[in-house]
This record gives sequence, C-alpha cells and structure tokens, in this order.
Amino acid sequence: MKTAHADTYMKYYSLNKKAPIVTFDEAVIRGIAPDKGLYFPEEIPQLPASFWDTIENLSKEEIACIAMKPFVGDTIDDASLRAIVTDVLSFDFPIVEIEEQVATLELFHGPTMAFKDVGARFMARCLGHFLQQRNQTVEVTVLVATSGDTGGAVARGFYKVPGIKVVILYPSGKVSDIQEKQLTTLGENITAFEVDGTFDDCQAMVKRAFLDEDITDRRQLTSANSINVARWLPQMLYYLFAYKALKKKGKPLVFSVPSGNFGNICAGMMAYRMGMPVQQFIASVNSNTTIPRFMQSGVYAPTKTVPTISNAMDVSDPSNFVRVLRLFENDLGTLSRKLTSRSYCDNATRATIRELYKKYEYIVDPHGAVGYLGLKDYLKDHPDAYGVFLETAHPVKFLPAVTPIVGTYTELPEQVKDLMSKEKVAIQIRDYNALKKYLIDT
Ligand SMILES: *Cc1c(COP(=O)(O)O)cnc(C)c1O
Repeated sequence: MKTAHADTYMKYYSLNKKAPIVTFDEAVIRGIAPDKGLYFPEEIPQLPASFWDTIENLSKEEIACIAMKPFVGDTIDDASLRAIVTDVLSFDFPIVEIEEQVATLELFHGPTMAFKDVGARFMARCLGHFLQQRNQTVEVTVLVATSGDTGGAVARGFYKVPGIKVVILYPSGKVSDIQEKQLTTLGENITAFEVDGTFDDCQAMVKRAFLDEDITDRRQLTSANSINVARWLPQMLYYLFAYKALKKKGKPLVFSVPSGNFGNICAGMMAYRMGMPVQQFIASVNSNTTIPRFMQSGVYAPTKTVPTISNAMDVSDPSNFVRVLRLFENDLGTLSRKLTSRSYCDNATRATIRELYKKYEYIVDPHGAVGYLGLKDYLKDHPDAYGVFLETAHPVKFLPAVTPIVGTYTELPEQVKDLMSKEKVAIQIRDYNALKKYLIDT
C-alpha cells in the first residue's frame, strides 16, 4: 500500500517558532528545539481511505509502517523501519471487554510493564539508527528525570544501544520497589542517580543541565520524555490497534486516557486527525486539574502539583498540551468538541479498584481506574458509544495502592520475578554540581 508522503522528508518546526525547521532525525537527536519549543510536524499526514477500509487485514507491523512512514520520511529506509517496528512491537496489546460497551486496552505487556515501553523502544532504535548512519561519530547522552515509569522504560529501551549513554534521575524513596530495581540494576550504558529530593528537584536539575553551556558545549544531550517526537508519535499505534479490533462493532468509538503529561492522548488525537473515526477523547486526570479547569474556563492556570496514588499523572503543567491545542489550530471551541476532561480524587480511584475487583475479578492499577471513571461518566450521556479505557501500567507496579484493596499477589509476572533479587546500583546526589561534574567528566 502506498502512503501519502512516501519518498519525502517530513519537516518539523518548533512551536515557539524561533528555531530552524528540521527533519525527523534532527528532531530526534535534539529532543527539544534550540528555542525550547516542542517540535511539531509541518503537515498532518492523511492516511488513505483504503487503509481504514482494510485495516482489519493488516498486521500490527504493517499498520505501524504505514502510519509512521510519513513522519519518518526518508530518514529511515523502509526495510530498517520494518525491522525497528517489528522489534518494538514484539508483545501483545490485548483488548479485554469488562462490561457491555466497556473494554480496556492493556498496554502493560512490554518489558517494563508500562505503556511507555513502545515509545522508549522506538526512540532508542531510531536514535541508534541515526548514530550508526553517522558512523558513530556522534555520541548522545540521554538525560531524563523520572517519577517512576519513564526511568525503567527508558533504561530498558536504550540498554546497550551503541553511542548512547543514559543518565536517569529519580527521587530517593519516592518510586516503588519494582520501579527502582528496573532503573538501577542494568548497568552497562545506564547510570542511575538517586536524588535526595522530590521529582520536581530531579526535573529542575535536568532542565538546568540542558541550559548549561559548560555541558552542552561538550555533550550532545537529548531528552527521552514525550517531548521527543520519537517517543510521542508511535503511541498513536495503540489507538490504531484498538480501532482495528473494534471496527466490526459498528459503534462510535470513545477513548478514555489516564493523562499526566498528555503525550499519550495527544498521539491518539493525531491518529484522529490522520483520518481515524473517533467520537470523543476523554482526558481522565487525578487531582491535578489544570486541563479540566482550562477546558471549562479557557484559562490555563497550573498550580502546585498534588501527590496522588496515580503518581505517574502528578503533573500540573503538562508539556504536550501545546501540541493538543496545535492539532486543533489552537481553537478551544473545536478542541472541546473532541476532548472532554474530568478529574477524580484518590478515594474515587480506590473505590473503582475495589468495585472492578469485586464485580469482575479484574485488577486495575490506579491510573487505569481513573481512566475507567472518566469513561463511565461520559457513557452515561452517550449510551450508544463503545468505550475503551487505556490501562497504562500493570497493577503490580503500584502494589502499595492496590494490595490493601485486592489482597496480595501470589504470582509475580515474568518481567519482575528475577528483577527483585538483583542488586541496586545508584549514585546518591544532593545537588546539581555532582550531576554536572559527572556529565562533563564521563
Ligand atoms: C506516564 C504515565 C501516564 C501518563 O501518560 P502521559 O502521556 O504523560 O499523559 C499514565 N499512566 C502511567 C502508568 C504512566 O506511566
């Protein structure tokens, strides 16, 4: 099947509009534009009617190649792109129907049991490919702060990729045991810094390093959070896989996405703008309510971040929301016809974990529970729709929240069984200078 923009180079511009236009490879290597803006594609590719008509006959690798090719352009040849997506998508993305008209899309079957695996693996392989094309004359340091899930997915995704060093900062005592093991036990090109502070402190150090010319004159730094186009865009595949599976139901489709930095939902909305039929997106959030308030009032007013049990969504100033707006020409009116946003507190989240377990023996993690709540509220007013909530992490990663409700797990998933016996290796730091010295010296 021919894609809309084969044999061309998609161009990316900075949403701050004060930086040069780049191709996909440049955007991936830089992460963020020199004017600190997020990269955004110059045009939104339209997938042909034949793609939507025959999607049920396509494999996930075929879907991925067709959907990603226009974004990648000729920076990656077709055979290499095929090899990359085959490797990245080597696990299942099952849809589990929980109630009539309500299903969950389980995105936790990857190596670190978080949906971030797909984006992290795709970015790692693209970056590895670009460095190889440059005969490894470029070395890149991936620098990232994590509140839990990002660190593990990035560590695993970039493990042993030639030419790439990974430095992960995490707040001491504030990630779960499994999450800590996932980012501190690999070694090789992965280094973990255990910061005596909060996630915001980690994030502040990372931001400072990106602006520090003593470092950036010597090292090519890049980010591996959803700011990077190679981590953000492949997340659209989840929605395409769900559409493929649910098309035969013949009902209007609704997606509820547990949202923090809004990268995942923004990728889904990109799929919609590329031609995928979707009735509505629901951005389900916890007590960090910047976006539901914005959707009501039109005033963007982030407040101090509120800690919750769905802590991967404890974000009050979501970086990707500018991209969501851009997808709708920055028009709140048009956006609000496709996006609903609702907030749920920890008590409602706990009650949902309990209810789904009691009624269906289905265990959701706190993030998925928030997604379920948003979906159910929407379906009350739209009984004809078919709803999917994204289950973004395996519940075992959030045991302290889940165990008191459902009892203990007897069987740990394969991915964590041997992890727990491995030894943690991390460099303890208190302040920025220790990080700076490491980045300059090694
Ligand atoms: C990162 C994460 C989210 C939030 O995703 P965004 O793309 O930042 O909106 C939700 N749930 C889990 C489990 C996560 O790790």
